[in-house]
Amino acid sequence: MKLSLIIPCFNEEDCVEAFFEAANNVFSTRTYQTEYIFVNDGSSDKTLSLLKGLYVENRDINIISFSRNFGKEAAMYAGLKVAKGDYLCFIDADLQQRPELVAKMVELLEKHREYDCIAAYAKERSDESKIARFGKKHFYKIMTKISGIEFVGGASDFRCFRRNVADAILELSEYHRFTKGLFAWVGFNTRYVPYEIQERSGGESKWSFTSLFRYAFEGMVAFSNKPLHWPLYTGIVSTVFGILYLLFYIIFNIIQKQMFSEAAIVIALMFIFFGLTLTALGIIGEYIGKIHIQVKKRPSFILSENYTAKEHEKNAPLLQKELEREAAELKKLKIKKAKFKEMKRKQQIMEQLVARQELEREAEQAQQEAEAVEENKAPKKVKPKRKKKAEPNEEEIYTTGPESGFEDE
Ligand code: UDP
Ligand code: MG
Repeated sequence: MKLSLIIPCFNEEDCVEAFFEAANNVFSTRTYQTEYIFVNDGSSDKTLSLLKGLYVENRDINIISFSRNFGKEAAMYAGLKVAKGDYLCFIDADLQQRPELVAKMVELLEKHREYDCIAAYAKERSDESKIARFGKKHFYKIMTKISGIEFVGGASDFRCFRRNVADAILELSEYHRFTKGLFAWVGFNTRYVPYEIQERSGGESKWSFTSLFRYAFEGMVAFSNKPLHWPLYTGIVSTVFGILYLLFYIIFNIIQKQMFSEAAIVIALMFIFFGLTLTALGIIGEYIGKIHIQVKKRPSFILSENYTAKEHEKNAPLLQKELEREAAELKKLKIKKAKFKEMKRKQQIMEQLVARQELEREAEQAQQEAEAVEENKAPKKVKPKRKKKAEPNEEEIYTTGPESGFEDE
């Protein structure tokens, strides 16, 4: 088994060495092999020469260096193209995302065959402004609405996935890439795990507010043609409104035998003609939308599994095993559920028992108090009663004894 770590680096001279040290500490002790793919995205500092230094001393390192800065999306795509691992992972070079979590993600993938991708999501970033946080939160909601695919808020590119997911992503060769969207688009079974974003190990974030806004806008355009429909809808509404307004105005004026106002007619005509123009734009938009999808050359579907009759001999025993394992897991789950139910039931009985004992104890206490009051009223019996004071306790012990009777219930 092999893990490929894809690390985009843009002006990360303060981080790359620390990153490699931290990652190597985690992965050198693992049973699986790890390859590092550092993608130098046109850095203008010492990033590349530091990477070369690491390369000279370590056999598991690959370096891809761009001729200029093409952006993180391009860096991730380039890394994915050369990665050879069975499991692959995108991780930033600044140690804001910990390699320890990658090891856990790999463990999850190993353990749970049903997951194809483990994506990390951060609930909150302390290094982010309130506006950026607000923008991101609503951006993912809007994206989910207009694109028809689910975007999980807070989920980043920090994810670990199987080879089949990587192959599907590689099939999407579009120029304007939005990897989070591509992962959502290709589907597969994704599990989201929370993580805490760490302090940058050095340097500073490469994203400004405007670049984030541009990135968000590109993501929206890449994953939804809905904005192209909007002129069509508004155009139709405007035209219909203009026509109704004109008709109503003419009929009303004829009935009332009034003069026609030029301004009113011009307003109605404006609604009609602006509406018609918008409708025409909307129709053109519909065609452009279709072309937009077509030029991306996205596949019409993505397979997750395929069993051919030709490979029956090979597949059948494997599937048999898988089905047996699933059945065993289901059985285990049922037993677990039953045990949990039983535990809950016992807990309830115990609670009832305790409540009943409490009630009994209170009742007995009240009775003893009442008896004591009675005895106080009769002064002759004061002495022997004092001796008897110890007896109620014995009695109490005896009478609370039959609590075992509840157990029988
Ligand atoms: N990055 C890149 N090209 C860019 C911008 C960023 O390869 O044009 C890399 C950067 O070196 C880092 C990762 O993408 O490894 C995330 O960038 P950054 O830490 O600046 O983003 P933030 O964590 O602030 O979202
Ligand atoms: Mg960062």
